[in-house]
Amino acid sequence: MANIVLFGGPGSGKGTQSAKIIDRYGLYHISTGEVLRDHIARGTELGKTADSYISKGQLIPDDLMVDILADVLDKTQEAKKGVVFDGFPRTVPQAIALDRMLADRGMKLDGVLGLEVPDEELVSRMLARGKETGRADDNPETIKNRLAVYHQQTQPLRSHYESQGRYHAVDGMGDVDRIFSRIMEHLDTFTKADAESVADATMSSGSEG
Ligand code: AMP
Repeated sequence: MANIVLFGGPGSGKGTQSAKIIDRYGLYHISTGEVLRDHIARGTELGKTADSYISKGQLIPDDLMVDILADVLDKTQEAKKGVVFDGFPRTVPQAIALDRMLADRGMKLDGVLGLEVPDEELVSRMLARGKETGRADDNPETIKNRLAVYHQQTQPLRSHYESQGRYHAVDGMGDVDRIFSRIMEHLDTFTKADAESVADATMSSGSEG
């Protein structure tokens, strides 16, 4: 199975496409935004802290975010099958921490799929979502900040992963199912590569014994 990061701006379709990936491949979905919104809804201390950042369109500090993710990974037995990380990492330090957390758990990242969508489209999708779902941070002022934060803090991750040969661009425009079939092409390559490396390991351990 594969562990992947679904990368992209706010409103790029990470949530929508994650749901489709989960359906098709049975991977476990970790959306840090959803984890935080759940804390806010339950009124926990963490939720109160998170809300003060989310409502301004700012990122939760890296140290706190990394602790939250480690906690989710530890509590998630199903994660052993493979995980779709949606909304994490959002900064280079988070990406470095993710590699370390996965290695500590005998896991690794198979690839990063970047949903590429122009800003104007991101804005109109978030405004539409705000109307449909009432999601609090999908309002014009917060959207503006989220986009600025995305360009300043999150987009540098693209070249970070690109320089490691782990970034795979996906055209995030057009029909939801068309975008999903572009994602599937990559996922099928990752899962195949994974199966081959397991087969190789089995063969070499077989020849030793
Ligand atoms: P999302 O649902 O992924 O769009 O996340 C909603 C909000 O939660 C973001 O605008 C951030 O304020 C916060 N958030 C989610 N994931 C992270 C993360 N990995 N690092 C920092 N803040 C995050």
